[in-house]
Amino acid sequence: MAARIIDGKAIAARVREDVARDVAAFSAQTGRRPGLATILVGDDPASAVYVAGKQKAGAEVGIAAFDHRLPADAAEDEVAELIARLNADDDVSGILCQLPVPAHMDGVKLTGMIAPGKDVDGLTPVSAGLLALGREGLRPCTPVGVMLLLTEAGVELEGAEAVVIGRSNLFGKPMAQLLLGANATVTTCHSRTRDLPAVCRRADVLIAAVGRSEMVRGDWVKPGAVVIDVGMNRTEAGLTGDVAFAEVAEVASALTPVPGGVGPMTIACLLRNTFQAATMAAAGRVAA
Ligand code: NAP
Repeated sequence: MAARIIDGKAIAARVREDVARDVAAFSAQTGRRPGLATILVGDDPASAVYVAGKQKAGAEVGIAAFDHRLPADAAEDEVAELIARLNADDDVSGILCQLPVPAHMDGVKLTGMIAPGKDVDGLTPVSAGLLALGREGLRPCTPVGVMLLLTEAGVELEGAEAVVIGRSNLFGKPMAQLLLGANATVTTCHSRTRDLPAVCRRADVLIAAVGRSEMVRGDWVKPGAVVIDVGMNRTEAGLTGDVAFAEVAEVASALTPVPGGVGPMTIACLLRNTFQAATMAAAGRVAA
């Protein structure tokens, strides 16, 4: 069997077009633009590239950029004060504090100070709680991106066996919650899972977010399963996923590539979240 390749690049481009159209309509109606504030502390080159990419993508869909940079030796209080100012600023719809922050700061604590209605990364305790309770709120970008990929690929989740490898707060846990919300039967695996290949072989939908190059082999996959590869591993052979692509493509019915699968969806969903935050604020709805 040769799996169908789920083209994340094309789907992300469509999401961005949708956001651009929605932003234009919102701006025409309200006279306001959604705004995305980014906070970058320190001079980590990779983080600077990520932030620049997010701001550029925002500008392309009509989202205003508020770019805040602090030196690596800034005090944690300075970042906290900036977040408080941005929380109170009506021009700012969404706030993103690029992680990791320097070692003398607590990134989880700082992220938690972002107002839930502006938490476009969906990583605050309030956003995590709203997701767990199935209430309206902003969801983490990468798991939302995976849900959009599954929808676009026409994957039926209701009653399906979904297996997520990885239980991080950033991806694995919110992914499992979103799948549960879509009525899948969900198993979350991690480094202590016994006989991981056997658990994976149960999956109709298998999602790998581990950070180990090509760990998921062809014989871990049930024939006809849909496989989503979230992994991004920089190896000597270049960027690889957590899935052994060639082997799994022989067994799965559909599969995301790396690069060009989940990766492009993350920024597209950040833009979508920023628009959602702006509309929630304009309608006076508070995430709670
Ligand atoms: P993480 O915080 O390091 O979590 C990795 C998870 O994998 C943990 O739950 C860990 O289990 C589990 N794990 C590690 N070794 C394992 C093994 N041998 N068998 C089974 N489970 C194992 O990573 P993350 O932030 O979730 O990211 C995971 C991957 O996704 C990375 O490659 C990252 O670059 C990628 N990613 C991509 C995007 C994107 O935009 N495309 C976004 C987010 C993440 P324990 O909990 O037991 O340690």
